[in-house]
Amino acid sequence: MREPFVMVEEKPFLRLLEWESRFPGLVAGFTMRTGGESEQPYGSFNMGLHVGDEAQHVVANRKKLAKQVEMPFASWTCAEQVHGNQVCQVVAAGAGRESLNDVISAADGLFTEQKGVLLTSFYADCVPLFFLDPVSGAIGLAHAGWKGTVHRIAEEMVKSLQLQHQTKPQDLLVAIGPSIGGCCYEVDERIMSQVRTCVRDWESAVTPPQNGRYMLDLRRLNTAILLELDIAMENISSTEWCTSCRTDMFFSHRKEAPIAGTTGRMVSYLGWKDQNQKGEGSAS
Ligand SMILES: [Zn+2]
Repeated sequence: MREPFVMVEEKPFLRLLEWESRFPGLVAGFTMRTGGESEQPYGSFNMGLHVGDEAQHVVANRKKLAKQVEMPFASWTCAEQVHGNQVCQVVAAGAGRESLNDVISAADGLFTEQKGVLLTSFYADCVPLFFLDPVSGAIGLAHAGWKGTVHRIAEEMVKSLQLQHQTKPQDLLVAIGPSIGGCCYEVDERIMSQVRTCVRDWESAVTPPQNGRYMLDLRRLNTAILLELDIAMENISSTEWCTSCRTDMFFSHRKEAPIAGTTGRMVSYLGWKDQNQKGEGSAS
C-alpha cells in the first residue's frame, strides 16, 4: 500500500495527501521535529506546551504551522491528553492554543463538523488516528497510546460520530499516522494481558515472545479494533513511518526520554477551511 503521509516541498510536516486531494478545503497531516524555534531537548518544531519548553517558542511553532496550512491560528484547538478514552465534541475553535489554562480538559479525542476549527493532538510515539465521515463532513482526531488503544478510544470516536452525526461505519475513512512501529515497541506481560482482552484479533498485532518480551504493533491493534467496528479495510490508511526508527524526523519518547529526560511533541492536525474566514497564510 502507498504511504499516506507524504512530505511535500521540504515543509516540516507530512500531508495526508489522499484525503486533501479528494476533499478540497480539508487540511490533514502530521508535523516533523525540524523547522521550528525550540531549543534542545525540544529541538526544534515542538508543539507541546506541557513538556517544559518555553511557551513562546511553542506558540511560535504552532503559528508557523497554521500559516503553512493556511488556517488562522485562531482555529487551533487542543485538549489535555491523559491516555484515557474520552472523546469531546468541539463547538467553538481556539481552546488551548496559547496556554494550558483554557485547554479542553482530559480528552484524548476531539471531533467536530464545523468549518474553521483546526483539531490538534500531540505525539512522541503514540498513535494518531484521523477520522473523516465524507457524508456529514464530521472529522475527528484520537490519541492512542497503548492505554488509549486497549481502552478502545477508536470505538469511543466511532460511537460518538454515530450518535452526533449519524455516521455509518461503512462510510467512515480512517488514517493511522506516524508512531512507534512493531519494529521498536517492546512490551511486557503487564501490557500484553490487556492487549489480549481488547479485541478478538489481537494476535495480528503481536510478534511471538522472545525472552518473555513481545513486539507490539499498535497500528495493527487499532486496525483490528476498527475492523471489528465494521470500518472497511479499504477505508483504513496506515503509515509505515516509525517514530523510533526515524529520530532524525520525529520525536520519540521511547528512544529519547531515557537519555534527554524528555523530548518534544509532534502534532496531528485536521480541519476544514472556512472560506469566509481569512487564513493567516493567505494574501491580504
Ligand atoms: Zn521502528
